[in-house]
Amino acid sequence: MQGRDATLGPANDAFARQDHAPMQLFDTRTSTTAPFVAGATVRLYVCGITPYDSAHLGHAFVYTVFDVLIRRLEAKGHKVVYVRNVTDVDDDILRTSRERGVDYQVLSRSEAAAFHANLTRLGLRPPDVIPFATEAVPAMIPMVSGLLERGVAYALADGRVYADVDAMDDYLAFSGLDRDEALRQFTEKGGDPDAEGKRNKLDFLLWQPSLPDEPSWATPWGAGRPGWHLECSAMAMEHLGSTIDIHGGGNDLIFPHHEAEILQSEALTGQGPFARVWMHVGMVALEDVKMSKSLGNLVFLGDLLDRYDPDAVRRLMLSNHYRSGWTYTEADMESAATAVKGWHGAADGDPLAVDGVVAAVAAAVDDDLDTPRAIRLIDDAVSAGNGMAARAAATQLGFFLGV
Ligand SMILES: [Zn+2]
Repeated sequence: MQGRDATLGPANDAFARQDHAPMQLFDTRTSTTAPFVAGATVRLYVCGITPYDSAHLGHAFVYTVFDVLIRRLEAKGHKVVYVRNVTDVDDDILRTSRERGVDYQVLSRSEAAAFHANLTRLGLRPPDVIPFATEAVPAMIPMVSGLLERGVAYALADGRVYADVDAMDDYLAFSGLDRDEALRQFTEKGGDPDAEGKRNKLDFLLWQPSLPDEPSWATPWGAGRPGWHLECSAMAMEHLGSTIDIHGGGNDLIFPHHEAEILQSEALTGQGPFARVWMHVGMVALEDVKMSKSLGNLVFLGDLLDRYDPDAVRRLMLSNHYRSGWTYTEADMESAATAVKGWHGAADGDPLAVDGVVAAVAAAVDDDLDTPRAIRLIDDAVSAGNGMAARAAATQLGFFLGV
C-alpha cells in the first residue's frame, strides 16, 4: 500500500487519518448512509449466479462493485471472508438442463467455471468460499423443520412447504413495497401467487416436490427440493454465522429474495439482524432496457474481454455509482478504453503527488463507494501530468495498472 510512511508529510497524514475512519455505506434496510464500524474480520455474502448461461455485464458490475469494497476493507487492515454462492438447483437450471439434454450438475458446474474464469480475467479477487446450493441442502432441511415448529411455515399434503408471511414480523418492511407492488414483483419474478392451498398469495416456497426427472432429497414432509430464497439463508449462515456484516446483490433481489432471506433467517435464529448492512447494486441496461436473459438483450462479459483491456471494462463500470442503474453504449466503452490507455501512457510526473491522489481516491471509496469521483480524481492526476500518482491510485480500485 502506498503512503503509509508517516515521515512523508501532510498528504500522508491525511491518508493515515482516512484509513482509520470507518467507511460510510448506504444500508437498504434503513435507507440511510452510516459509518460501517467493522471488527477485524468482515463477513460478506453476495448472492451469486444461477449458472445456466454466460455472464453478462450486469453480473460483472455487481461483482466488481464488491471487489472495490473488499479491496478497500482489506487495505484498511480487515480480513474479509467473502462468500459468493452458486444456485445450482432451481427452476431455471432444471428447465435449461432438460432443454439441452444435459445433467443439471454438469451444466451448472461448467457454466459456473466459465463464469469464474471471466471474472478472473476481469481481475476480481476470488471469493473465499463458493458454496453450491446442492451441497447445502442437508443444512436446509432442519431449517424448514425449525420454521414449521415455530409456526411461521406450513406444509401442504403434496409436499410443498410455504413460509407464512402473515405469521412473520414486519413483512414488506425491508423492501418498503405496498401489497399490490409486492404482488406484481412476486409474480413477475417467478412466484406462484395463485397456487392452490396458499394462505396468502405472497407466501413463498421453502420446499417443493420434485418432478420425476429432477433432483430430490428425502424430508419428514416429503421428498423434493428447496426454494431459492432458503438456499441463500442456509449458505450464508453455514459459512458466516447467524449475523453477517454485509449482504449484497443486485437491486432486483431486494424483493422477494432478500426480504424472504431476512424473514426466515431471523425467525429461525430468534435474533436480528441477519445482516448488519444490506448493499444493492443498480441494473445495467442496453438501449434503455434492463439486461436480462429472458429479453436476450445481453452484453456478454467474455465478448467484451475478448475485445477490450479488462481495465477498460472496469473503468466503464466504475464510472457509474453502484446504486444507480446505467446504460451500456459502444461509445462509452470506446471512451473508457481510450481513457485507460491515457492512464497507461502518462509520464510519471511528480512522485510527491502520489500520496495526495491515493488518499483522495481512498476517501472517495470510503464515501459509499463513490467510484465516479475516484475515476475523476485519477483523470485529473493524468491531466496534471502525474501518471505515477494516477496509476498508484487506480490500483486501489483494482485496476491492473502497475506502479
Ligand atoms: Zn441469494
